[in-house]
Amino acid sequence: MAARCSIAFMIMASCLSVVVSGGLPGDLFALSVASKLRVDRNSTARASSDFGRIVAAAPEAVLHPATPADIAELVRFSASSPSPFPVAPRGQGHSARGQSLAPGGVVVDMRALASRRGRVNVSAGAAPYVDAGGEQLWVDVLRATLEHGLAPRVWTDYLRITVAGTLSNAGIGGQAFRHGPQIANVLELDVITGTGDMVTCSRDKDSDLFFAVLGGLGQFGIITRARIGLMPAPKRVRWVRLAYSDVATFTKDQELLISKRASEAGFDYVEGQVQLNRTLTEGPKSTPFFSSSDIGRLAGLASKSESGVIYVIECAMYYNESTSTTMDQKLESILGQLSFEEGFVFTKDVRYVQFLDRVREEERVLRSIGMWDVPHPWLNLFVPRSRILDFDAGVFKGVFAGANPVGVILMYPMNRNMWDDRMMAVASDNDVFYAVGLLRSAVVVDDVERLEKENEAVLAFCHNEDIECKQYLPYYTSQDGWQRHFGAKWSRVADLKAKYDPHRILSPGQRIFSSPA
Ligand code: FAD
Repeated sequence: MAARCSIAFMIMASCLSVVVSGGLPGDLFALSVASKLRVDRNSTARASSDFGRIVAAAPEAVLHPATPADIAELVRFSASSPSPFPVAPRGQGHSARGQSLAPGGVVVDMRALASRRGRVNVSAGAAPYVDAGGEQLWVDVLRATLEHGLAPRVWTDYLRITVAGTLSNAGIGGQAFRHGPQIANVLELDVITGTGDMVTCSRDKDSDLFFAVLGGLGQFGIITRARIGLMPAPKRVRWVRLAYSDVATFTKDQELLISKRASEAGFDYVEGQVQLNRTLTEGPKSTPFFSSSDIGRLAGLASKSESGVIYVIECAMYYNESTSTTMDQKLESILGQLSFEEGFVFTKDVRYVQFLDRVREEERVLRSIGMWDVPHPWLNLFVPRSRILDFDAGVFKGVFAGANPVGVILMYPMNRNMWDDRMMAVASDNDVFYAVGLLRSAVVVDDVERLEKENEAVLAFCHNEDIECKQYLPYYTSQDGWQRHFGAKWSRVADLKAKYDPHRILSPGQRIFSSPA
């Protein structure tokens, strides 16, 4: 048995889990990566929580790798040790429920790799692509690809998260209805498996690993490079929001916009938000998109509706100087087919980068009022189209009636046929399903409990009403929950885990498998 050095400590989070760790094998510190391991309290404390601020657990050490080979050496050591310890790659730590933590093990600070030159390389040939380090922020990938007039096709709403962090989930956003989630646009990966092997995989080579890692919640390997397909980048974006007071009209129009017929000639991006009257009247008086008078008009619309709930389609059309007239005509034609409330169309004309990086502005506003670094008990669900109206009635007009859900509520449809079932990400079974994001913030600590109870009430409502929701950015506390989540994919998940991470070392914060064996 390897000697264990005791560098354990406890972290006391104001609101939650406390984990005591047990030490790492002492001979770990004789490896060549030892100089890149930090065990001081500052380093481990920084890797002890995440954007959610709900779960907290300290690792024993944090690895700041200089190369992917450093990570492989660490993983290989753990896998071959008589006492394997958990290893969690951490991107930006923007998960909400401790998914990037490694209690009692080592967190790999993937962002350390970003300081190395040459971690983003663009190939601008006939079928252009970018090779991006898994640790890269999407905003940096955007900057690099734009230098060649190119860009990835699908974006998350927020760009200060890492390539591998979103590919481990799926990576969804307003372009996914047409191009699928980000994982559908990956051509090749470099992966370090749970045995420390460095493998380059694709649809044709070691394809089981390739498909396992995409949407694989960090369970099968650590992504150190992703090759992602690119398209010509537009210069400008017409950014449009349309308000509705009736949910059936709102969803009918959203589904029209993502249908093949409309999508070919229509918007390049389609999302939507649910606005409860209280968020309009009690929230910020202006946003980076809406002026204070727009918000006043929207609040007026909400107060006239019986439920106090209104809906906003957010959509965008890309264009360049040479295509601006055609874009105007296209926009007019498509708006003519929609049934939003008369006069409730709001438009902005912005640079492409400004549009993609729009949440950065909201981040600045929230930071300035102390509402960014607060707990985020988020719940994200995929709701089948067939039950979205029931969900709306039971949740927005039921569970949330009279509540004060500070934060944003997203609701937008995607096409199921753009999801590849060989990948581990789990989608809903309907041909069209809605991403519903309850992206709420706890302004005071007591709010966490209240918001968590509301989340439980939402899940209980879906369960009782037989609404087959799937969680996105999933979180379950039992293996039963995970088995139900993966459904028919579960046996593949278990088999591939046994093949690629037999000691159950990787990403223990997801709590899918007990760790390590
Ligand atoms: P981390 O939180 O660091 O890690 C997430 C998981 O991935 C962990 O299990 C970790 O161990 C694993 N992991 C990290 N790096 C690697 C790697 N190199 N190889 C293998 N596994 C790895 N998601 C969307 O899809 N669409 C959105 O529009 C969207 N908007 C968001 C907006 C905000 C403000 C925030 C905070 C999150 C948003 N997300 C969105 C969710 C986000 O995609 C996930 O939380 C993602 O995991 C964050 O990336 P990260 O780099 O912070 O990952």
